[in-house]
Amino acid sequence: MFSAWTYALARLAGMLAVAGLVGWLLGRPALTVAAMLAAYVGLTYVRLYRLERWLRRRRTEDPPNLSGVWGDIVALVMRIYRRKQFHKRRIVQLFREFRRMTTAMPDGVVVLGSEREIQWFNRNAARLLGLRRKLDFGQRLDNLVRQPDFIRYLETGDYALPVIVRSTVASDTHLALHVVSYGAGQTLLLVRDVSRQIRLEAMRKDFVAHASHELRSPLTVISGYVDALADDQHVDPAWRGPLEEMRRQAERMRAVVDDLIELSRLEASGSEAGADVVDVAGMLALLRREVLSRDSHPRQVNLKLGSDAKLLGSEAELHSIFSNLVSNAVKYTPADGRVDVSWWTDDGGAHFAVADTGVGISRDHLPRITERFYRVDQGRSRATGGSGLGLAIVKHALQRHGATLDIASEEGKGSTFTCHFPPRRVVERAPTAVNQ
Ligand code: ADP
Repeated sequence: MFSAWTYALARLAGMLAVAGLVGWLLGRPALTVAAMLAAYVGLTYVRLYRLERWLRRRRTEDPPNLSGVWGDIVALVMRIYRRKQFHKRRIVQLFREFRRMTTAMPDGVVVLGSEREIQWFNRNAARLLGLRRKLDFGQRLDNLVRQPDFIRYLETGDYALPVIVRSTVASDTHLALHVVSYGAGQTLLLVRDVSRQIRLEAMRKDFVAHASHELRSPLTVISGYVDALADDQHVDPAWRGPLEEMRRQAERMRAVVDDLIELSRLEASGSEAGADVVDVAGMLALLRREVLSRDSHPRQVNLKLGSDAKLLGSEAELHSIFSNLVSNAVKYTPADGRVDVSWWTDDGGAHFAVADTGVGISRDHLPRITERFYRVDQGRSRATGGSGLGLAIVKHALQRHGATLDIASEEGKGSTFTCHFPPRRVVERAPTAVNQ
């Protein structure tokens, strides 16, 4: 560029010198220099015109054949233009690939703005949610997808897990809707058809419910005969041991079947428990008496009633929660240990806790302790007649009451299981503390 400018300036200076010399020879140097400058400006305008014309029609016309500085400017413009064309082609190609990719995706994707307005969605989102191309762009998502569970999910702001809703487009379709945040205020809604999983889950629940019901009657008959034989004085003494073992195993099977039936019943009933007014204090006093009447139990079983508040819930389920937790504490605490059962209320709601000085649970097992059939020590649990389903039942029944379970435990020192019931389930709070 520098050399082109130098050459152009040198040429102009040379031309001015020649015009000046010719003018001096003719006696009119000013006139010849002015004529030469006018010709130079004219030529410059012609080039400028050709350049401007080409710039406007550069898509269809070849570049003008210009030399010197003008040629350099044409080459520079050509280079910028080619680079821009290259990037444009790449962006268009990327965009096409993105569209092909999102169309091929089995899940629906909806891009949402900061006000949850729909900015874009793919074909599967349109199919699964019944969205209309163009018409629904800019509409708020919660105005179009109005399932109450989804609206609640949006309001909670906790998007760690998807929410499952029934589709409004096809009633036998279930959708998992998952909000994923990215960038500032921007979110994606991922939509997946989970009807197959839901159907399989329903089949599994039905199967377990039917199988456990079918097992109950033959088991009752077998237990009856085993009990009769075990109590029969005429039976050969060599059979006493095996018959006792058969009685124990039949009892274990009955416990498992009963717990399976209980779990199936909980799963089959809706997500919210009923609202009977349950006298928790009375229920706990009865439970304590029942524990103390057992053949073996820890020496101290204390009941600390900090409130006589009642709970709105299902009486049978609340009994199941409290008795499972108290029975576990009694089962896993030695005879010289202690079990403290407490019931109290505060601004956070009502709370039930069972603390024991028993075997405790190691930190590794704690996260999985409420899973079905999860036992820390298979042998000990079997020996104590445990089904491995007690805590799963507790967790499920608590969920139906909007309650949560906290477990604190130290191996060898003991455990505390605490249930927190929300204030909306609590009635008749008593201000005075009653200790027993
Ligand atoms: P199980 O019928 O075997 O007691 P649960 O579901 O009630 O089944 O409990 C699961 C496992 O959790 C038990 O096998 C036991 O290892 C452990 N567990 C439950 N409660 C206690 C407790 N209070 N102390 C120590 N371990 C416990």
